[in-house]
Amino acid sequence: RFSTAVLHEEPITPPVEVKYTKLLINGEFVDSASGKTFPTLDPRTEEVIAHVAEADAEDVNRAVFAARKAFDEGPWPRMTAYERARIILRFADLVEKHSDELAALETWDNGKPYEQAAKDELPLFVRLFHYYAGWADKIHGLTVPGDGPYHMQVLHEPIGVAGQIIPWNFPLIMFAWKVGPALACGNTIVLKTAEQTPLTALYVAKLFQEAGLPPGVLNVVSGFGPTAGAALASHMDVDKIAFTGSTATGKIVNGLAANSNLKPVTLELGGKSPFIVFEDADVDEAVELAHGALFFNQGQCCCAGSRTFVHEKVYDEFVEKAKARALRRTVGDPFNKDVEQGPQIDTEQFEKVLRYIRYGIESHAKLECGGDRIGSKGYFIQPTVFSDVKDDMVIAQEEIFGPVQSILKFRDHDDVIRRANNTRYGLAAGIFTKSLDTANTVTRALRAGTVWVNCFDVFDAAIPFGGYKMSGIGREKGVYSLHNYLEVKAVVTPLKNPAW
Ligand code: NAD
Repeated sequence: RFSTAVLHEEPITPPVEVKYTKLLINGEFVDSASGKTFPTLDPRTEEVIAHVAEADAEDVNRAVFAARKAFDEGPWPRMTAYERARIILRFADLVEKHSDELAALETWDNGKPYEQAAKDELPLFVRLFHYYAGWADKIHGLTVPGDGPYHMQVLHEPIGVAGQIIPWNFPLIMFAWKVGPALACGNTIVLKTAEQTPLTALYVAKLFQEAGLPPGVLNVVSGFGPTAGAALASHMDVDKIAFTGSTATGKIVNGLAANSNLKPVTLELGGKSPFIVFEDADVDEAVELAHGALFFNQGQCCCAGSRTFVHEKVYDEFVEKAKARALRRTVGDPFNKDVEQGPQIDTEQFEKVLRYIRYGIESHAKLECGGDRIGSKGYFIQPTVFSDVKDDMVIAQEEIFGPVQSILKFRDHDDVIRRANNTRYGLAAGIFTKSLDTANTVTRALRAGTVWVNCFDVFDAAIPFGGYKMSGIGREKGVYSLHNYLEVKAVVTPLKNPAW
C-alpha cells in the first residue's frame, strides 16, 4: 500500500541563498514598523529558512501611500505605454537570467519539484510578462456613433492603486497573473504574498526595480491574512482588490472591500473539479491524465481534478491502473530530479489532508493505496487513491488540496453531467473521450470556467481562467484580466458641423 518514496537521510542543500527578507516599499527594502519578523519554513524539514519582516496595518498604510503617490504624481501612468512595455520586457529578461536561482528558491520555500519550477513555471512566468508587455500599447478605447451631433469616445484608463493578495501554491505564477496585467494598464500595486511563501516575490520585485520600474509602482509586503491582508482589502486608498485563495477568505475580502470604499473585487477561489472518463477513452491515457490532474503540485491546485468520474464499463480497469500509477509516484526531496511529489506546504495543510483521508476511510470509500504520511519529518504524504466514492461523502464535496484521488462510477451522460455540476464550485473540468459529440455536448453542459478536453492543466497566457459559482468572480489571464485593471470613461463633445 505504500508509494515509491525516495526520501534521503539528509535533505539536498538548495543551490541558492536568501537575499531579500524585508518589505519592499517605495523602491526600498525596509523593516516593518513594529520590527516584527516571522519565520518561513522548509516544508521538507520543518526548519526555518529565513526570518521575514512582518507587515501589519501600519506597513500596509506606508505601502499604499507610496503606491498612491506613484500613481497620482509619478511617471508610471504618464509615460508612454511603449516605455512601460520596455520596462516589463527588461524585467522578463532579468527573470530569465536568474531563473535557476528563482526556481530553487521557489522549491525551497514551497516544496514543489525543482524540475517543475525550473522547466514549467519560470518559463510560464516569463511568457506571462511578455504577453502583458505586448498588451501595454494596445489598450485603447472606442469611438461610438450616437443619435445626436456629438463626438462620443470611450477612454480606458488605469484604475489606480491595485491591492493584490496571493496564495502559496504557485507563488510566482500568481504574482505574474496579478502584476502583469495591472502594470500593463498603468496601475500601481501593493501586493501581499502568502505567509508560507514570501521569498520569491521579494526577489522578482527587486529585479523589477533593476529593470527601471519607478519607486512605489510595485510594493511587496509579507505578512498574515487577518492583519496585513485585511488592512489592504479594507484600505480607503486602494482602488481595486484582486484575491486568490480559499472561498472562505474570498468572502471576507469581498466584505472588507464592500464595507470600506466599495472597491471592485476579483476573486479566484477554490474548486472541486470533475475529471470525466467516458467509455470510449483509451484507459491508459486517461489514467495518466487523471493522475496528473489530481497529483500535480502535491494536489495543491485550485483546479485539481479532484472528482474522477469513470464510466462503469471501464471503471474496474481504470481503478486498478490508477492505483498502480499512484504506487509508482515518486515522493521525496523536491530537489531530487527523479521526484514527482514533494512535501505539502505546512503543518496545517498536512494535518488537513490526513484528516480528509480519515473521513474517506470512515465513510467507507475503498482505500486503494496510500493513506498515511511518509517519514517522521517534513510534510510528506503518500499518494492516496479512494475508489467507490459516493457523491455525498465529504471527500467528494470539500476541497482536500492534497494528493488524494477520489474515483466515482457513473452510468451515462445525463447522470455524470448532473453529478459533475452538483457542487457549489465551478472552477474547471476535464473530459476524456474520443467522441466529438460527447465532448461538445458535455462541454456546454458543465458549469465551469475552464473545460479541458483530452488534456488538463494547460495554462496559456492568452486564455482566461476563473470560476463559475463560488469559485470566484471575474477572470485572470488573457485579454479578460485587463478589464479588471481599467476604468472606463465616456467623453462626449458637441460636433459644430455634423455634416462633416
Ligand atoms: P487563504 O485564503 O487562507 O490564503 C490566501 C491568501 O489570503 C494569503 O495571502 C493569506 O494571507 C490571505 N488571507 C487570509 N486571511 C485573510 C483575511 N482575513 N483578509 C485578507 N487576506 C487574507 O488560502 P489558503 O488556505 O492558504 O490556500 C489554499 C486555498 O486557496 C485553497 O482553497 C485553494 O483552492 C485556493 N486557491 C485558489 C486558486 C485559484 O486560482 N482559484 C489558486 C490557488 C489557491
